[in-house]
Amino acid sequence: MRYCTQCILPDTRPGISLDADGVCTACHGHRDKETRIDWTAREAAFQTLVQQTKARAQGYDCIVPVSGGKDSWYQVIMARKYGLSVLAVTWRTPARTEIGQKNLEAMIRNLGVDHIDYTISPDVERRFMKAAFEERGTTGLPMHMALFAIPIRLAVQLRIPLILWGENPQLEYGGNELERLSDTLDSDWLARHGCLESTDADYWCGKEGLTKSELLAYQVPRETDFTVRSVFLGAFFKWNSYENARAAQEAGFEYGKQDLKIGTWDFADIDCDFISLHHFLKWYKFGFTRDFDNLSVQIRYGMIDRGEAIAQIKAKGWQAPEQDIAAFCRFQGKPDSWFWSVCEGFRNTDIWVKQAGVWYIPDFLIPDWQWT
Ligand SMILES: [Zn+2]
Repeated sequence: MRYCTQCILPDTRPGISLDADGVCTACHGHRDKETRIDWTAREAAFQTLVQQTKARAQGYDCIVPVSGGKDSWYQVIMARKYGLSVLAVTWRTPARTEIGQKNLEAMIRNLGVDHIDYTISPDVERRFMKAAFEERGTTGLPMHMALFAIPIRLAVQLRIPLILWGENPQLEYGGNELERLSDTLDSDWLARHGCLESTDADYWCGKEGLTKSELLAYQVPRETDFTVRSVFLGAFFKWNSYENARAAQEAGFEYGKQDLKIGTWDFADIDCDFISLHHFLKWYKFGFTRDFDNLSVQIRYGMIDRGEAIAQIKAKGWQAPEQDIAAFCRFQGKPDSWFWSVCEGFRNTDIWVKQAGVWYIPDFLIPDWQWT
């Protein structure tokens, strides 16, 4: 395992590679944002996109996929600012938090948009999550499949010409040059970066008794008679998670230290009790935690230096989202021991080594880490 010399991301993170100087693709993305991308030209391109969209719209101009989190507030604010009529669409997590519900309701009310809170049968969600967790070690796969497929399906069926997604993850968290400069979320992007493990809804048909009709909401339409432009807002305007949180807060978004679930940002990952599990499994598969993601962004924003980030990780030590794990096991009707044994099955032995009964990562970022 090697780590970026500027931030603290390891080269095991999907999308990350290090150049000859040991600088990662996410740090190159930041450099692109600061020095290479002409944001004035990008804004002009967005205005052209808005005009083209309005010329094609027969009803709503655009769908904004929202969770109620800070980024979705920013997406809606920007869509409205540029004169787009918005249908906000949510994939309703089966484990929405109280603060998540409150923020979503406030967003719809304060920003004044129509909204669909799309709910899949909780029993289908449960079985799909069980299958994805046991077979692929990911609880987040059904979530990702649903939150991408539902807005795309609705856009095609309701003849809405534009979908406005949030950040371009390849620009913020590491991707190759072509991907960093792209503005489009299409089926090719979904296959490579949608966290879908190279599967589609059809693949999961029959597992845990899931039927084709139960999986309808997860199915991205293939042949369509209506073309939808599907773009990242973060390709047109310089993305900054802290500024998004501030803009959202000014409009009524609420968060606080008590809402911190995982990572170091109390304004992120707060909508759903199960999101922390998606991040937690990266420890077994890739040897890093959500703190590495959050703190690396803070380094790039110039808020802290690399040494401070490492000190924060060391001071915090290893933590599991115990409450969320318990909630997930209750949802599944399984004991906690089931969760831990599945996690263990996905420990990546390319990076983990067992010595005297204790698993550890040779060459870990912090040499005197307390392995448990
Ligand atoms: Zn880096």
